Amino acid sequence: MSVEFRFVPEVLPMAPRPMSDEWISSWLHRVATANTLSFGELLESVRGGHLPSLDRAMDHALPMAWRTRLATFCRIPESWISAIDLRSHFPNRNLIWFTHPRSFCGDPGEPSLQLSRPFCVHCGEEQKERHGRAYIRAEWPLAFRTHCPRHLSPLIDRCGSCGMITFPSWSAGRFCCQRCRATLQPTHTLLHSPGLSAVIRLQEIIHGGFLGRHPNLRWLGSVSGSEFLRVVFDLIDVLTHRTAQPGLVLADLLVPDEFRRAYNVGGRFQSPQFSALPWFARFLVLAALNQVLLAFPATPGHPPELVVAVERLLNRFFRCLPFEQKAGILKRSETWPAWLRMGFHQAATMVRQRPRRRYAVQWLGTTSGPGPRGSPPVKYTKFTF
Ligand SMILES: [Zn+2]
Ligand SMILES: [Zn+2]
Repeated sequence: MSVEFRFVPEVLPMAPRPMSDEWISSWLHRVATANTLSFGELLESVRGGHLPSLDRAMDHALPMAWRTRLATFCRIPESWISAIDLRSHFPNRNLIWFTHPRSFCGDPGEPSLQLSRPFCVHCGEEQKERHGRAYIRAEWPLAFRTHCPRHLSPLIDRCGSCGMITFPSWSAGRFCCQRCRATLQPTHTLLHSPGLSAVIRLQEIIHGGFLGRHPNLRWLGSVSGSEFLRVVFDLIDVLTHRTAQPGLVLADLLVPDEFRRAYNVGGRFQSPQFSALPWFARFLVLAALNQVLLAFPATPGHPPELVVAVERLLNRFFRCLPFEQKAGILKRSETWPAWLRMGFHQAATMVRQRPRRRYAVQWLGTTSGPGPRGSPPVKYTKFTF
C-alpha cells in the first residue's frame, strides 16, 4: 500500500496581480510560473479535490466556486477575476468568437478544452520593459484577430516547431515555446503592403463592433455594431463552406493573389470551422471577406473590375452547390444590407460564361508585378472548378 503525502498551502506564497486587459489563463500562467508550478499543477492545487473539474474553457464564464477559491488562493478580490473573464471583456459573445485548437492535448490537471493563446512578441517585449512581465491581452484570442494592430505582426497562436498551443516563456532574451523551448515565430510571413493593412483595418472594424461601435457607413451602411457582426458571422460561414464536388472553399477563390501560398483552406481542412483554424487560414478567410465587403459596399465608388471578378467567382461557387444549399445561402442573405444581398443574388443567377479563371484571379490581386520574394508560385489549377 502506498501513501501519497501532498501539501497544498491555504494561500499561494507568490501571487502576481492580474492586468486589467489580461484574461484568466494568461494571469494564472504567470501565477503558476511565479510559484514554480506548471499550469496544470496550479489548477490541481486550486481544485484540491473539492471543486468540479472544468469541462470547458476556463476563460469564459468561469463558475463562481472556482472564482471564489482562486480569489482566496491568490489573495485578491473575486471581482478582479470576474473583470478579466472574457464574458466581462466581451459581453454577449459566446466562445465561438474565440480561437481554439482543433484538438487539444493538455498536460495533467489542465481543462480538456482550452482557447489558443495568441501572442505578439513585440508587444511582449514592450510589456516586459514597462511592467516587468509579459502577458496575453484579452483581445488577442478573438478569432478574427490574426495580427497585432500596433506592430502589424502575426499573433502566434501555436509553436511553429512542436505545433502545440503554448504560453510565451521568456528565456535567453527571447520568447520561446513553454514545451519545446523553440523560439516563438510566425509559421508564415507576410510582407507589409496596402493589402495587408486593409485586412488588419477590417479586423479593427470588427473589433469595434464588439465594443458597440458603428462601422463606417461605407461598409454596410447604417448598421449597428451588433448587426455588422451578425453579417460578418454569416459571411464567414459562407466563405468557409466546403462544396461537395469538388471539395473547395469559397475563401480560397476570393483571396487576393498576394496572399496565396501553397497553403489554402480547402486543401488543408476537410470541414473548416473558422474559430478552430490556425492564424494563417483565418487570415485568408478575412482577406476574402474584405474582398466581398469591398465589392458590395453601401456607398458607390467601388472598383467595377473587382465587382465583376467577385461576382464571377461567386457564380462559380454557386454552380457547385446543390439547389438546397444555394437556396439556403440566398435565404440567409435576405437579412443582409441591400447591396450585399443584391450582389449575391446577381452572382447566383448569372448566366454561365466561358471560364476565364486566370483573369478573374489576377484581377483580385492588390499588387502588380512579381509576387513577394520567397513566395512559392501560385498554382491556379488548385482553385479551378
Ligand atoms: Zn504588438
Ligand atoms: Zn513547441
